[in-house]
Amino acid sequence: MLSERAKNIKPSPTLAIDAKAKAMITAGVDIVNFGVGEPDFDTPDNIKEAAIKAIRDGFTKYTPVGGIDPLKDAIIEKLKKDNNLHYSREEIIVSCGAKHSLYNIAQALFGPGDEVLIPSPYWVSYPDQVVLNDAIPVFVKTFESDFFLAKPEVIESHITKKTKAFILNSPSNPTGLTYDKESLERIAEIALRHQLYVISDEIYEKLTYDGFKHISIASLGSEIKARTIVVNGLSKSYAMTGWRIGFAAGQKEIIKAMTNIQSQSTSNPTSIAQKAAIEALIGPQDFIPIMLAEFDRRRRLLISELNAISGINCLTPTGAFYAFPNTAQLYGKSANTRTISSSSDLTLFLLEEAKVALVHGEAFGDDNHIRLSYATSIEKIKKGVERIKEAVAKLR
Ligand SMILES: *Cc1c(COP(=O)(O)O)cnc(C)c1O
Repeated sequence: MLSERAKNIKPSPTLAIDAKAKAMITAGVDIVNFGVGEPDFDTPDNIKEAAIKAIRDGFTKYTPVGGIDPLKDAIIEKLKKDNNLHYSREEIIVSCGAKHSLYNIAQALFGPGDEVLIPSPYWVSYPDQVVLNDAIPVFVKTFESDFFLAKPEVIESHITKKTKAFILNSPSNPTGLTYDKESLERIAEIALRHQLYVISDEIYEKLTYDGFKHISIASLGSEIKARTIVVNGLSKSYAMTGWRIGFAAGQKEIIKAMTNIQSQSTSNPTSIAQKAAIEALIGPQDFIPIMLAEFDRRRRLLISELNAISGINCLTPTGAFYAFPNTAQLYGKSANTRTISSSSDLTLFLLEEAKVALVHGEAFGDDNHIRLSYATSIEKIKKGVERIKEAVAKLR
């Protein structure tokens, strides 16, 4: 009955674990949820008010497919101010979330046999979006000892005549690590030499710590800008995951193709959410440093507590809101009759034994790690890590 395409596609594993944890919470189980991939802050009031006003004003009809001009202009201003990037309206598309922009890019650029380089560990949707378009994900392994940055020689070793694009995600989900200017320059050089497109997912750009300043690879020069499609959105920076507004900036031929694809699938992103997005981008920005300071407190606490657990080692993340500790030392150990031999065994053990939800690294292509989101309160972090510590102490 189902197409080959439908049979080959997996549901998003992070959303699946979140759903399982939420179901246990609804059933009355006291779960500490480190599985979530969204800020636990409320959308700021000025943004909500702009949406309410849009409804009252009757701004409730179809809009141009790729977004209304005032929103495109606000995005153009944002890219200029934050990223030193200059685009015109026809180089911008607004989609129903950054994930939707990424999907449109995959449809516009990838076809049968095309190879797409994806540094691993990776965000869960990249490989599946490639596969949905009959193209081939090619994983570029990255190492903890390099802070999970893709090494030039490893990238080059995977390049063939069929290589079409490189997907870059900094700050990264799941590792929480960030690319510095030198690493970006090396990737840009490779992309230009091999004529690859760079898809740069910058959704966590506002969430960086320890003085790290996000740089867009597209800002490194006009040549690399021409080969880059910058993807960003409002979900993470403005706590707007449910509003579904994301955008992409790039060459106008690509943006036009993406807009045509969008015109045959979703049409415009919600008119009301577009009005809210304008307010988010051009209104007061004081919400961001407040949210960031709170994430930073939690990050410091979580990382030091995790590293105090014997058998768990965690790099200090410089961006996003995830910790990605190495748990390989725990594999091979047992508690009662249960033996832990993978990240999913460990995740299930922690859910059942410690009542703590998190995501197995295998979902991101790295079985030696687990991912914890610190988009939860300090109290919950303390309670959750204590539970993990107790459960892990039972493994021998
Ligand atoms: C959350 C997330 C997205 C998608 O964000 P939406 O705008 O809500 O679709 C894209 N990329 C990464 C790496 C993410 O973590």
